[in-house]
Amino acid sequence: MSSTVLVVEDEPAIQELIAVNLGFAGHKVLRADDAEQAQFLISAELPDLILLDWMLPGASGLNLARKLRADERTRDIPLIMLTAKGEEQDKVDGLEAGADDYITKPFSPKELMARIKAVLRRRAPQLTDDRIEGAGLVLDPATHRVSGNGQGLTVGPTEFRLLHYFMAHPERVFSRGQLLDNVWGDHVFVEERTVDVHIRRLRKALEPTGHDRLVETVRGSGYRFTFRPGQV
Ligand code: CA
Repeated sequence: MSSTVLVVEDEPAIQELIAVNLGFAGHKVLRADDAEQAQFLISAELPDLILLDWMLPGASGLNLARKLRADERTRDIPLIMLTAKGEEQDKVDGLEAGADDYITKPFSPKELMARIKAVLRRRAPQLTDDRIEGAGLVLDPATHRVSGNGQGLTVGPTEFRLLHYFMAHPERVFSRGQLLDNVWGDHVFVEERTVDVHIRRLRKALEPTGHDRLVETVRGSGYRFTFRPGQV
């Protein structure tokens, strides 16, 4: 599945190499040469993942990582630090600043792509093509199909994304605002009651096999998907 990756790297050759490889893999790429430009891009569009070089002109990558982690809007963005340093202390500093992973230059494009996939799988499984199943419900992002107890279910595009998000984050209560940010996209101006409309449609789509009961309304808070992945 395509996701938006922000590359913050001041060395043009490395930035280009990364951007080309991400493009080949089907990702949308945003590029910044320094922390300031990165923050400007992030304020306009929240990326799904950030590749952040440690040594940047002006504010360091480490400094930006700390800032991103301190801000509620950007706190959960998966973050991989890129660096020429191989010292153990730098790695510790990077991880303490909130990086999810750390890649030491020089790295091969293959290694980079594998790390990105691993971080996305861990931090944002709804952005991967991994099949999710449980409680007789199967969602396959690659084929865009949903089935319940082996029976195909017709799920609209927004409901599909909503269901994917729920299945990737089971048992967690999400407010309407959180669902809007994470499923519709940050900076998309949609009224919160739109969420209720799509929740109703999702329940209706899951009704034929009784899986609508997995979508729970949590009074005063939002919605929860009650589900244990892997349990068929
Ligand atoms: Ca650099």
